[in-house]
Amino acid sequence: MKHIDESKINSLLNLNVSRQEIDDILKKTKLLKRLTLEESAKLLSVKDASLLEKIYDAAKHVKNAIYGKRVVMFVPLYISNLCANSCVYCGFASNNKHTVRKKLSIQEIKQETQILLKRGHKRILMVAGEMASSKENINYYVDAVKAIYDTEYKGNKIKRVNVNVAPLSAQQFKMLKQSGIGTYQIFQETYHDATYRKLHIAGAKTDPDSRLNAVDNAFKAGIDDVGIGPLLGLYDYRFEILAMLMHIEYLEKTYSVGPHTISVPRVEPAPGSVYAENPQYPICEEDFKKLVAVLRLSVPYTGIIMSTRETVQIRDTLVNLGVSQISAESKVTPGGYEDSSRHNDKLERQFSLNDQRTLNQIVQSLLSQGLIPSFCAACYRKNRTGEHFMGLAKHGAIKHICDINALVTLKEYLEDFATPEVKTLGYKLIDEHKAKLDNTSIKVLEKFFTNIDNDIRDEYI
Ligand code: SAM
Ligand code: SF4
Repeated sequence: MKHIDESKINSLLNLNVSRQEIDDILKKTKLLKRLTLEESAKLLSVKDASLLEKIYDAAKHVKNAIYGKRVVMFVPLYISNLCANSCVYCGFASNNKHTVRKKLSIQEIKQETQILLKRGHKRILMVAGEMASSKENINYYVDAVKAIYDTEYKGNKIKRVNVNVAPLSAQQFKMLKQSGIGTYQIFQETYHDATYRKLHIAGAKTDPDSRLNAVDNAFKAGIDDVGIGPLLGLYDYRFEILAMLMHIEYLEKTYSVGPHTISVPRVEPAPGSVYAENPQYPICEEDFKKLVAVLRLSVPYTGIIMSTRETVQIRDTLVNLGVSQISAESKVTPGGYEDSSRHNDKLERQFSLNDQRTLNQIVQSLLSQGLIPSFCAACYRKNRTGEHFMGLAKHGAIKHICDINALVTLKEYLEDFATPEVKTLGYKLIDEHKAKLDNTSIKVLEKFFTNIDNDIRDEYI
């Protein structure tokens, strides 16, 4: 597989590491410095409980220093489960004859978006299967993105549409960028070549390099916010994490900037998939926690995304250890929001989800942990993306901007969508955070807050 040196990774999986070495690496992380591949491998090899606690403490420190208490909220919108590929772990695989296929019309996409706007969502991750014709794919994606941005509910609109769709050519990515997308996200699934070839048995996705090329094509087309990730459970997680870090090193070297986000999805049971019921490399909770913490320390400025595949308990733990973006009240079925009680949902969904809470319940849970749910998309709208964003982030210049924007979007959510109980909790948290800001920031925040009280929405810096 391109950019991935398997023998180097394998040699890093069998290192002998002393406690002193782990302590030295953790000292480096305190300076918010990115780790080398070897240092990440050493942290991943830790099994000792007391050393693991030290890794978790370091990850909490880095998370807090860079992201503060903010957690960005988003929701997936599945527009189609038509797919020409056969990935053995996926409910949408073309050889799964039981799946009820559905490609939403533009009108249906607008209806789904309206429902999400009514619940308070501002950031959508648009998701689709891959149809055989790449021309058909790109035209549909572009129309769908436009439909989402055009939809309005009482003056509210979606602020940022990220997409997780099939690989495209550089020319097609240009069209997608022009439609106004935020992040282009694509998972390599597994970076282990032989495993990849075994698990992807039909369609364009059989070629592992087509996924890696897609990331290059996106960068070449000027999409500088790209999201990557392995699908965990397909192969040894330590290999996958190191291979992804190797992929990141390649991107940094080639484009001067790595991915904007990384995701850590784990395989969940999927309709019609025997494999997904029993993935070959299941990851226990402790290893999962460790790998998220090690990623936080390895690439401190790269956002980490966690979906509702994970349980409430794991999500609540990992938002403190490194995760910076989470999804809420997701449906992985095209049209799933329009009628969430539809009984054939089981036959249309991609896989099972473990966190079924509403957005309001998730906001409540974050607030009660002292975290700030953020609906902000200001950086992307102000062109603070790619290298520009990373530069600001590394110099700490972005932090106070993000804090103000996050508190503004939280107040908007509390006023427009929250239950009275969540509203009380939210205002208490806003007061606590406001007290920590400097005078200039407080003045800016108060001006925005007064405007919100006067029914003005969607202001940001
Ligand atoms: N079809 C496109 C593709 O495969 O790149 C994009 C969308 S696909 C619906 C999004 C992601 O879902 C895949 O990249 C894969 O990692 C994930 N996925 C598929 N089956 C899964 C399962 N059983 N459990 C968890 N995630 C799964
Ligand atoms: Fe199709 Fe994507 Fe599912 Fe593979 S993971 S079967 S490409 S929807």
